[in-house]
Amino acid sequence: MALFITKSRYLVLFSADFLASMKLFEKYPVHLTNSLTSKKELFSPVNAGRVGMYVCGPTVYNDVHLGNVRTFMMFDIVARYLRYVGYRVRYVRNITDVGHLENDADEGEDKIAKKARLEQLEPMEVVKHYTEGFHHVMRQFNILPPSIEPSATGHIVEQIEIVKKLIDGGLAYEVNGSVYFDVTKYNEHNNYGILSGRIVEELMESGRKLDSQDEKRNKVDFALWKKASPYHIMRWPSPWGEGFPGWHIECTVMSTKYLGETFDIHGGGMDLKFPHHECEIAQAVGATGKQPVNYWLHSNMLTVNGQKMSKSLGNSFLPRELFAGNHALLEKGYSAMTVRFFMLQSHYSSTLDFSNEALNAAEKGFKKLANALTAVKKLSHPGSSQPDPELVQVLDRLHQELYINMSDDFNSAKTLAVLFEMSARINDFKSGNVSLGAVDAETFETFKKCYIGFMEDVLGLNEEAEHDEALLTGVINVLIELRKKARKDRNFALSDKIRDDLKSMGVQLMDGKDGEMSFSID
Ligand SMILES: [Zn+2]
Repeated sequence: MALFITKSRYLVLFSADFLASMKLFEKYPVHLTNSLTSKKELFSPVNAGRVGMYVCGPTVYNDVHLGNVRTFMMFDIVARYLRYVGYRVRYVRNITDVGHLENDADEGEDKIAKKARLEQLEPMEVVKHYTEGFHHVMRQFNILPPSIEPSATGHIVEQIEIVKKLIDGGLAYEVNGSVYFDVTKYNEHNNYGILSGRIVEELMESGRKLDSQDEKRNKVDFALWKKASPYHIMRWPSPWGEGFPGWHIECTVMSTKYLGETFDIHGGGMDLKFPHHECEIAQAVGATGKQPVNYWLHSNMLTVNGQKMSKSLGNSFLPRELFAGNHALLEKGYSAMTVRFFMLQSHYSSTLDFSNEALNAAEKGFKKLANALTAVKKLSHPGSSQPDPELVQVLDRLHQELYINMSDDFNSAKTLAVLFEMSARINDFKSGNVSLGAVDAETFETFKKCYIGFMEDVLGLNEEAEHDEALLTGVINVLIELRKKARKDRNFALSDKIRDDLKSMGVQLMDGKDGEMSFSID
């Protein structure tokens, strides 16, 4: 029997059977910091027991950088934890393959079209190449795939429909084959700025003034559909002539199509709050009259030695450079699991600073937890016991703290601290300092299950296979010899298959002079 004081201060008695039948998310209710209200709130989904979550995915025109990795890792943790405590989660993360213009506003070239022009490729070749690269990096970091991964080009029809709806509702207007969202009109009855705190009047005052070349009525307006110039390759027919969709409209369409007009969680990096997410809200409210999202979550950015990570400062490195230690700022390479552990050491809402010292410390910390993971899997309770009540209480408290910390706004940093405490207990059992018989079997099994579950299923921290370098090199060399033979026999299908299959596993084959081949591992 357990006693609980409810909000209305009645004393409620629950039987052990009732508590056992509770779902974990009822026992440890999730609270999260909602960017819409800037408050920590109790999470209550639209449909009991189910969660709909949308996260803005990558624009696939270049290699995924570490800042993106942090964002996707954070939402990986959110999806993993919500599933772990018993929710059915539908996680939608899109691929932006059209419409994202260079300066993130409505000007400049489409990022994918530009890359295609520079590299003399079809835009869809650019999209395929970088989408595969993105998936590869996600796998390296053990970031699980979403339930649905829709693309903007696969939803042109739906985007045109919603633009028509906004025009019919008087919230959008067409000029010379392009369509813009009328922010000032929308703001008469709604709040443009509800998420980011921006004020329309101030936005109107700041920066460049509109000139006669501009098609927008007001500078705060944003593009829903852009007319394609004659040389623009990515184009679709529409009621306004041939063109392509604006960047923000794709997320409104794909989130509500798969999750409903109002869904639970929308996430993304902090830099997307304005204008992207603000525009998403305006479009959805304009089209349906409903707030599209109940909880907005934003992850903070990465810095390097205290400075913002950016290409122009020369302090941004790619995942493969980080693994290989192949950058002037890195003393050596670090494994994907070390980097994952490192990223989880700080709360998602804080900035996270990369430095060699921090990465070296993370490497040691991760090894400690991973060794305890290997050890606890081998421990089994003897069956009979003479429980020490104090120890039983400690183990029981520790496993509960894992849930309490993760349910508290997905606090992975505090959860790792609990796992460290648990690892010390595991080492005591392993070394025989403390006998396993000092706890009852049930307490130990729960403790063990939670350590393994929170490491592997919730935080995605797996033991790393210590791969045998010599063996791996030997096997790749055998495949290289087979590929050379295939090419000599003019069996190019087999030769390409060997190259492509190895590539999908992260092994790149390079063809040198005189038919020689070398390889590198990502
Ligand atoms: Zn988006």
